Amino acid sequence: MTYRAPVAEIAFTMRHVAGLDRAIADGLYGDLTPDLAEAILAEAGRFASDAIAPLNRVGDRHGTPLRDGAITMPPGWKEVYRAWVEAGWNALPGPVEHGGQGLPVLLNSGCVEMWNGASLAFGIGPILTMGAVEALSRHGSPELKERYLAKIVAGEWTGTMNLTEPQAGSDLAALRTRAERAPDGTYRITGAKIFITYGEHDLTDNIVHLVLARLPDAPAGTRGISLFLVPKVLPDGTPNDVRCASIEHKLGIHASPTCTMVYGDRGGAVGWLVGEENRGLACMFTMMNNARLAVGVQGVAVAERAYQQALAYAKERRQGRAPGSAATETSAIVEHPDVRRNLLTMKALTAAARALCFITAEAIDRAHRSPDPEARKAAHERASLLTPVAKAFASDIGVEVASLGIQVHGGMGFVEETGAAQHLRDARILTIYEGTNGIQAIDLVTRKLPLSGGETVRAQIAAMRATVTRLVKEATPAFGQTAPRLRAAIESLDRATSYMLKAVSANAPTDALAGATPYLRLFALAQGAASLADAALAANALASSGDTDPAHPARIALCRFFAETVATGAEGLEASVLAGAGTLESAPLALAG
Ligand SMILES: Cc1cc2nc3c(=O)[nH]c(=O)nc-3n(C[C@H](O)[C@H](O)[C@H](O)COP(=O)(O)OP(=O)(O)OC[C@H]3O[C@@H](n4cnc5c(N)ncnc54)[C@H](O)[C@@H]3O)c2cc1C
Repeated sequence: MTYRAPVAEIAFTMRHVAGLDRAIADGLYGDLTPDLAEAILAEAGRFASDAIAPLNRVGDRHGTPLRDGAITMPPGWKEVYRAWVEAGWNALPGPVEHGGQGLPVLLNSGCVEMWNGASLAFGIGPILTMGAVEALSRHGSPELKERYLAKIVAGEWTGTMNLTEPQAGSDLAALRTRAERAPDGTYRITGAKIFITYGEHDLTDNIVHLVLARLPDAPAGTRGISLFLVPKVLPDGTPNDVRCASIEHKLGIHASPTCTMVYGDRGGAVGWLVGEENRGLACMFTMMNNARLAVGVQGVAVAERAYQQALAYAKERRQGRAPGSAATETSAIVEHPDVRRNLLTMKALTAAARALCFITAEAIDRAHRSPDPEARKAAHERASLLTPVAKAFASDIGVEVASLGIQVHGGMGFVEETGAAQHLRDARILTIYEGTNGIQAIDLVTRKLPLSGGETVRAQIAAMRATVTRLVKEATPAFGQTAPRLRAAIESLDRATSYMLKAVSANAPTDALAGATPYLRLFALAQGAASLADAALAANALASSGDTDPAHPARIALCRFFAETVATGAEGLEASVLAGAGTLESAPLALAG
């Protein structure tokens, strides 16, 4: 089944939910116009659908064999990557002074969705390269920027992110890779990193590794970690002391090489410090925050692809006779109410997650581009609040939607032939890398809710309430019970938020930690329902002013479906949050034996 990039939905969500037009009107996006943004998205959509999507299957089957330390990418990948770089796509969000186009994170997020909808294994590479650009442009010395940025911005060299070690996954304090100062001001890196995405490949002739390591006199824990740039090929053209020792055999994303990297077999890999000594984690987090949003966008991408495939199958496959069907013998399964519900759930979760990711991207743009420091601070805090929600919810629904996609296919979904199974296999990593979703939920409740004494989250809830007010004013029958259901979800979120803020400030972290994951889901359901209502209100206004786009009634119907059947879960999630740690107290009993 072929993938068609959902350009129109992406553009609509950007413009009417995430506020692209408003940001342009506020002068934040330079020369960008809504028409130009749509033209860029359309072009990206063509490349994703026509050039990248056909790689998805071949990548899954072929994998990335490692021989004598070298990895061969699957057939066709090198050529498409080259064409993608030459078309300037890697440079889209990069800094103008280093050859980038300086376009917004919001616009790039739409493109990232399409690269990843076409192939998750293809799309993850550039996410890391763009992250390396971000970390280097913010924290690199002028010499490092001069030497590396132009090539990485262009995508002629790729970037990696080296945090994980066998004993240091979620807990980076346990990191052991060593860095020693050399007399010439460089460093020698020694140690092993595991699970390094695109640590080795043959797409480009150099790979720039960003590596976390510890100096001999570094304080223990996360305050003693420094960040180093370690190129595969040194500036004089000789190979650095780094090699790929093995690759993982994984459940999914087979065409994304996941490498064990060994540094310093021959005395130490040459590295250059990025930022200050012992401040490496903060620098790496610059890279990780955007990467976390991008992983959320990957969830949207795979969900969209799984939905497209399931819908096409459901229109073809005939079984039984649906109630009220005009068919004389059998109906297409899409006519059966239960299959329709599955398909609508897939579409609604995808649309809500897309909206959540794009409003986060817009907040990131405002945090960087607003002229007013107060506005920048508020946007920065909003982006910080929304990032873990976008990452975790969108990646969770990536898995859920891909699983529903298999369900819609019946037995044919479980066999590899249809390709539906690949989406689920590929999606499964998204809830784990870039910080597991459990860690995202903990970050949300312990670090993000308390921002500005709780004012940041309160402002977000107030914005959701404003949408309810607009819905009530509209009072169009097509919206059904959207307003009361959305209001109920927001009130559940409000109460759960008060509980969490109290638990965190009263230093009762176990209560907060016990309910963090249901709280994150509750937040996402309320925000998702509000954002889909924003989309539906915009669609309604456009339709009322004579715009005959048939997608407008569909947007209203989807918003209603989400509010009436998905957001209704908010109340149950609130109960789970309020149960606090007490519910876990019997856990030792339940887990015993
Ligand atoms: C395909 C793939 C690609 C990857 N790419 C990269 C990469 O490019 N660079 C890189 O550096 N790493 C990469 N990783 C590593 C990835 O980021 C880690 O696997 C992830 O951070 C989780 O660490 P872990 O596997 O050690 O799990 P653990 O940290 O052992 O976690 C196991 C479980 O315990 C939970 N847990 C752990 N600590 C806590 C806590 N304090 N509170 C509550 N729950 C907790 C986790 O949520 C999880 O459910 C990749 C991994 C894979 C599989």
